[in-house]
Amino acid sequence: MTEKLYLNDSYMKECDATVKKITEKGLILDRTVFYASGGGQPGDSGEINFADRIFKVTDTVKDGEDVLHIVENVDGIAVGDRVRCKIDWDRRYAHMKYHGAIHLIDAVANMKPDYEGLITGSQIYDDRARVDFSMENFSQEVAQKIIDDTNRVIHENHEFKVKYIPGEEAVKIKNLARTEPGRELIKRLETVRIVEIVGVDQQADGGTHVKNSSEIGSIVLQKIENKGKRNKRMYFVLE
Ligand SMILES: [Zn+2]
Repeated sequence: MTEKLYLNDSYMKECDATVKKITEKGLILDRTVFYASGGGQPGDSGEINFADRIFKVTDTVKDGEDVLHIVENVDGIAVGDRVRCKIDWDRRYAHMKYHGAIHLIDAVANMKPDYEGLITGSQIYDDRARVDFSMENFSQEVAQKIIDDTNRVIHENHEFKVKYIPGEEAVKIKNLARTEPGRELIKRLETVRIVEIVGVDQQADGGTHVKNSSEIGSIVLQKIENKGKRNKRMYFVLE
């Protein structure tokens, strides 16, 4: 299993590691700072350095319990080699801000009974994000209201904290996982990683986070789309 250093420190930009396995798609290391795509957040890009050579990492994905760094050409590197990992930090930090914004939109949508809505999915791109809702009475006005409320919470400067609790404790906390697969997963886990947005929300989560909501900036609504009776979609950017 690759040790995922980003789970305990989302601000780590570099690390040393050892090559564990080479596949036709790339490299598996014993430890990594590269985030493997999941939960609507893209995998990291960057480089792996060995001797004088630079191996460009174009994407990072999960491979079972391991993390696979997608590298086009792995010639000249072997199992057991000690390498240096370096992520494209500007891109990752943007993803962290968008991820934090989605957490808070979700928290706000859950907080207000009048929205009667749930987030059913999300996707982060390098320069914008998409959020899908299950919400009947969705409109430009409602979307803008959610964004305005979320921006207010963002600017209250809430701390993001990561903690680990026993699975048996986690299953008793209401709404800790927001999706059915998430709820099923928690039941099987011995330890559950939780991100707490102090004073706002907590969720079971495997993502990378900013330390404080003040880092996120402000959400600007781009557009909404009607995908069905209850299926609604919103795009936003951060400024
Ligand atoms: Zn998260």
